[in-house]
Amino acid sequence: MGADDPLPVTASTAAGFPSFEVARLPRLVVGPGRITELPGLIAAFGRSVLLVTGARSFRESAAWTSLVASLEEAGLGWDHVAVAREPSPELVDRAVAARRGDPPDVVVGIGGGSALDTAKAIAGLLRSGTVVLDHLEGVGRGIPYLGPTTPFVAVPMTAGTGSEVTKNAVLSGRLPNAAPGTPPFKKSFRDERLVAQVVVLDADLLATCPPAVIAGDGMDAVTQLLEAFTSTGASPFTDAIARTGLEAAAGALPAWHAATVAGAPPESSAAARAAMSWAACCSGIALANAGLGAVHGIVAPLGAAFPVHHGTGCGMLLAATTRANLVALAARAPGSPALASYADAGRILAGNRALTDGQARDALLATLDTWTVVLRLPRLADFGVTPRDLPGLVAESRGSSMRTNPILLADEEIAGILAAAL
Ligand SMILES: [Zn+2]
Repeated sequence: MGADDPLPVTASTAAGFPSFEVARLPRLVVGPGRITELPGLIAAFGRSVLLVTGARSFRESAAWTSLVASLEEAGLGWDHVAVAREPSPELVDRAVAARRGDPPDVVVGIGGGSALDTAKAIAGLLRSGTVVLDHLEGVGRGIPYLGPTTPFVAVPMTAGTGSEVTKNAVLSGRLPNAAPGTPPFKKSFRDERLVAQVVVLDADLLATCPPAVIAGDGMDAVTQLLEAFTSTGASPFTDAIARTGLEAAAGALPAWHAATVAGAPPESSAAARAAMSWAACCSGIALANAGLGAVHGIVAPLGAAFPVHHGTGCGMLLAATTRANLVALAARAPGSPALASYADAGRILAGNRALTDGQARDALLATLDTWTVVLRLPRLADFGVTPRDLPGLVAESRGSSMRTNPILLADEEIAGILAAAL
């Protein structure tokens, strides 16, 4: 989820049952081992497939060898694009230009958020005759995207971004005419038609995730769930999804991380892995329909100016932001429904249904503080952030994510969040 995402349709109404929308969802194919169904899922859309993967991890695995063998056995032609770093407009446009004469019938993204976002953008542009910068929000030419898309199948190999179920591809790069020293942009190519046709959530593919990826991506998912749950754009639908996701993440994230740090066999954390994979998927559905909050508002300029991984950035900021939101809500909006949602989240994450609202909000903060430590999250200072950088980060933090935060935070409050995470 990048900066400058538009405001979702708000659920709040004067009285009675709220008015809201549920954005289009992919078909979800969930369960360990279900990657073996991929050839059949691809064949439903055609005979040729473009596979978009991360640079190494998946292609070095036995799963890659057996996937390629199964595609060939099914008589499917395949081609491949690897995403080495953050997805850029140039990479997407190059991949599209090379295939425009004979585009594949299907695009499959297999990997983390970068591979999925690249695949999503390529699938959007193969048949449209346009390039990324025609449509990229904020920095593009503002040309409306009209499609048509190529069917896109998403196979996440991390539990975090939720990109498999969202309609935007976050791309980063520099404008050709940018002044020297301008930080790179991170913007979305967004359209409802970019949503995947099918998602395969096979937690076996996550068995080789290293601890830092489990922690960073896991905290991205938890942040997205908590921000959607307390967003001013929350609806009965997103509340249900966010609650389900938080329940799945509650025990699973620390358990999966601890087992991996301890070098336990991957089978021992299969259930925790599957639960986090589901939590991440729920976080994507929730954010796509409810919007996000201050953590995502702040992490956007942080990631542009410093080498901070998106999810790790969320993890470093989540406890301090939640504390600041709770203090501000109690002082300025004691009737806000977000206070009850924070209490619900506290009961879920602390695993204690008997807590009163006040106790539950304290338990939420205590749990987030504990996770910050046990998941071995770094501090902002580890990335070179100093107190001098805070005013600039505060000034750049008011993108659309910030606008669905449950309460309007003052500059000093945002600076206080950053200072607490230094
Ligand atoms: Zn995020």
